[in-house]
Amino acid sequence: MIDLRSDTVTRPGRAMLDAMMAAPVGDDVYGDDPTVNELQRYVAELSGKEAALFLPTGTQANLVALLSHCERGEEYIVGQGAHNYLYEAGGAAVLGSIQPQPIDAAPDGTLPLDKVAAKIKADDIHFARTKLLSLENTHNGKVLPREYLQAAWEFTRQRGLALHVDGARIFNAVVEYGCALKDITHYCDSFTLCLSKGLGTPVGSLLVGSRDYIRRANRWRKMTGGGMRQSGFLAAAGLYALQHNVERLREDHDNAAWLAAQLQEIGADVMRHDTNMLFVRVGEESAAALGDYLRAQDILINASPVVRLVTHLDVSREQLKQLVAHWKAFLNR
Ligand SMILES: *Cc1c(COP(=O)(O)O)cnc(C)c1O
Repeated sequence: MIDLRSDTVTRPGRAMLDAMMAAPVGDDVYGDDPTVNELQRYVAELSGKEAALFLPTGTQANLVALLSHCERGEEYIVGQGAHNYLYEAGGAAVLGSIQPQPIDAAPDGTLPLDKVAAKIKADDIHFARTKLLSLENTHNGKVLPREYLQAAWEFTRQRGLALHVDGARIFNAVVEYGCALKDITHYCDSFTLCLSKGLGTPVGSLLVGSRDYIRRANRWRKMTGGGMRQSGFLAAAGLYALQHNVERLREDHDNAAWLAAQLQEIGADVMRHDTNMLFVRVGEESAAALGDYLRAQDILINASPVVRLVTHLDVSREQLKQLVAHWKAFLNR
C-alpha cells in the first residue's frame, strides 16, 4: 500500500522498535520512568524551555495546554481552521468552559495582529476575559513567516496575553527555516509537538513551557486520563525519532515539491504545496472515482474535491512515480 492520506500512517521500523524494547522504564505517574524523564528533559533543552510533558496525543496535549492557560470564563483567540478550534471536538469549551474566539487566518496561515487586537475584550462584566493567543505552525503545511513569530510574541507581551503554538509539525517548520528549534520556540510561552506525524513514532506528543506551567499541566493530564505508567517504551520511540528523523523531513518536503511538479505536468490542478503537503483540485465529480481507481492500485488518498496528499517516511520517490503514472492513466481513461 502507498498511503498518502497523512503523515500519521507511518509504522515504526526495526531500529525504532529495538530502541523501544531496550528502554528502561518505571511508573511515570510517580515520575519514575527514566526514559520519559529523559525525553521530557531532552525536548525542554532543545526548545530552550524549563520543562516538558509527555502525552498520548496531540489533541490531549492541546487540551491540557488550553486548560493550563485559561480558567472557566476565559477565552483564547484562535484561527477558524486551527486544529485546536475546529478538529478537537470543542474540547476546551466542553471540558474546560473556555470560550474560543475564532478569527480568519490570512492566506499565509498567520492571524493578522490587527484582527487579533480587535477581538481582545475590554475588562467588562459582559465579556469573557481574553487570556491567550493560539497559533499553529505549520498550518496546512504552511510555515509561518519567522518575522511574524517575533511580532506575535511582542504583541502578546504588550497586550498581556499568553502565546501558545500548536506545533504538531513544528519540526517541518524548523527544517524549512534551517534554524534550531529554540530559535522559534523562544517566541511562545508554550507549544505542543507531535512525535507521531512526520517524525514517525506510533504514539506521543509533548507540551512544553515553564516549570510552573508544566506543573499545572501535569494535574490536567492526570485528570483527563493521560497519566500513563511504563510509557518509557513509547518515549523511547520519541527519543529515537528526535535523534534520527528530524533532518530527513527535508526529503518529505523535496518529495512533495517533486510530486507537485509531476502532477502539474500531467495536467492535474495542483493548488499549492508546502513542506510535506500538496493540495490538488479534482472536483466534486471525479473525487470518488479517483479514490476508487487509485485504491484498486493499492494507493490510498482522502478522496475529496480538494485532495490533500502528504509525504512521509514510509513513502519513497519510487512509489510517488507509481502514483503519478496511475494518476495519469486515470486522467486519460
Ligand atoms: C494532528 C494534529 C493535532 C492532533 O494530534 P493527534 O495526535 O492526532 O491528536 C493537533 N494539531 C495539529 C495542527 C495537527 O495536525
